[in-house]
Amino acid sequence: MTKVLLEISGIHKRFGGLHALNDVALTINQGEIYGLIGPNGAGKTTLFNVLTGLYQPDEGKFTFNGKDLFCQKPYIVVGSGIARTFQNIRLFANMSALENVMVGRHVRTKASVFGAIFRPPQVKNEEAAIRARAMELLEYVGIPHHAEELACNLSYGDQRRLEIARALATDPQLLALDEPAAGMNPKETEDLKELMQKIRNDGVTILLIEHDVKLMMGLCDRIAVLDYGKKIAEGRPEEVKSNPRVIEAYLGVAPE
Ligand code: ADP
Ligand code: MG
Repeated sequence: MTKVLLEISGIHKRFGGLHALNDVALTINQGEIYGLIGPNGAGKTTLFNVLTGLYQPDEGKFTFNGKDLFCQKPYIVVGSGIARTFQNIRLFANMSALENVMVGRHVRTKASVFGAIFRPPQVKNEEAAIRARAMELLEYVGIPHHAEELACNLSYGDQRRLEIARALATDPQLLALDEPAAGMNPKETEDLKELMQKIRNDGVTILLIEHDVKLMMGLCDRIAVLDYGKKIAEGRPEEVKSNPRVIEAYLGVAPE
């Protein structure tokens, strides 16, 4: 039985005269790797921003796990189980890799500001648990040896892994990755593919934006195509690949 995890419909987002998302609907099932592709400026990142509460859509419906998340604040969205990474990496550059992951973990902890300042024993215990879980996650994404290094000193590929670890620290049910392979070499991309498969096999549903078509075809269960803010196709990778509208969107001409 497939269970619907995320469902949006009739989503519109305008920036002044620009209609960045135009009546977008999609449904993501639990356990899927769901791909989102489309030319530059199609609205992919805008959709991520809507799904994570960073942008407020103008119209539409948005439910996650049966809960209404339309126009909710980012912390409510994260608390509901959606985590993301960014197209332009957003790490705390001058904190260690481990500390970056610990920040993500704080979403799931109870310590108040009072507790953080006076540090009673239960707060100290909680912090030790956060540190241990963060270390586990660095191991999980394959960079435990960089735990004490400043985030800004990691290689590009390792910074992207670190962002994934930080997102996983919030215990998401849906992990949304915005171009995680950008700037990676073929070996790093192949390793990333394995990491994404491992994450999915461990029960986390994945929503993925990527330009690397070969990677997407080999990885995604279903793919949606955005063009000028509209969803122009959706289906299994082989269906999408041979869809004339998709070919036209990418090549600017209709296929023979
Ligand atoms: P993609 O990720 O598919 O390349 P984006 O979602 O980043 O595309 O952008 C879609 C369109 O919306 C682009 O024309 C972009 O310039 C515009 N856009 C995105 N964010 C903003 C914003 N905050 N203000 C104004 N225009 C924006
Ligand atoms: Mg983008």
